[in-house]
Amino acid sequence: MSLLRDRTAWLQGEPFGCLQPPAATGSPWRLVLLGPPGAGKGTQSEMLATVLGACPLSTADIFRAACERSHAPGSAMAAAEEAMNYGELVPDDVVLGIIRDRRACLRCRGGFLLDGFPRTLPQAVTLDGLLAAEHLPLDAVICYDLPLHLLVERMAGRRVCPRCHALFHVTARPPRREGICDYCGDRLRQRTDDEPAAARKRLEVYAGATAQVVNYYASRRPVVPIDARGSPERILLRTLDALAARGFSVPATTARTGPATPASSGHSTESRET
Ligand code: AMP
Repeated sequence: MSLLRDRTAWLQGEPFGCLQPPAATGSPWRLVLLGPPGAGKGTQSEMLATVLGACPLSTADIFRAACERSHAPGSAMAAAEEAMNYGELVPDDVVLGIIRDRRACLRCRGGFLLDGFPRTLPQAVTLDGLLAAEHLPLDAVICYDLPLHLLVERMAGRRVCPRCHALFHVTARPPRREGICDYCGDRLRQRTDDEPAAARKRLEVYAGATAQVVNYYASRRPVVPIDARGSPERILLRTLDALAARGFSVPATTARTGPATPASSGHSTESRET
């Protein structure tokens, strides 16, 4: 389960390293996951990590981890926490400083699944620059899409574990014991920014700044659109099928219903989108 994956280097930045770096694979996956809040990127990132072996890297998790440690009033992290609570974006200079500090995670031999980054045009351009400097190709940009009323429903029902950050949904992905995290037993809670006013603000922000990121990528490389309706498992299968349809060699999963794809330790490099 990817939640057990050590992400110290990502959550804490330099000079911290992961105690258990991922095993080297011949061909690590490097994906960007886009989509509006509530589309299920976080859940898909965790599930894809299990199947593809790449590390799920969420920028919001960095902010949340930093906010759980103490931070001085007026500091960049205090400002980040306030922006998050109101559903606004954390300023680009703060986000980009954090990403530059963690550039080692981009070159990690385990690969990466970026969730929640990039979210603005300057962030997308900076990411391209960092990857180009390291000669790291992006395999694909995946964009999850869901009608507005379902986005609202997903955010209203989402529950998160404050300790291990596992994600649940009261109906779509309920914990085994109501209100309790399956993985660490802590009490689940609703994110402040999933409450109605902040959730509305986040949707507005997505429609403005982040939609530009989708256009930026779409003008440079094919963006893989995924219908994010249905259960997390169905969305995962759709994602794997979409990657397979684009020529990527996707590991078989027991639940896979589409055309059989041979299990593989890596994936096609021929069809990589750089
Ligand atoms: P998420 O869980 O990815 O929806 O992110 C929750 C919140 O974290 C967002 O509403 C922003 O306040 C903040 N955040 C996460 N990633 C970024 C980013 N790349 N740029 C700016 N703000 C971000």
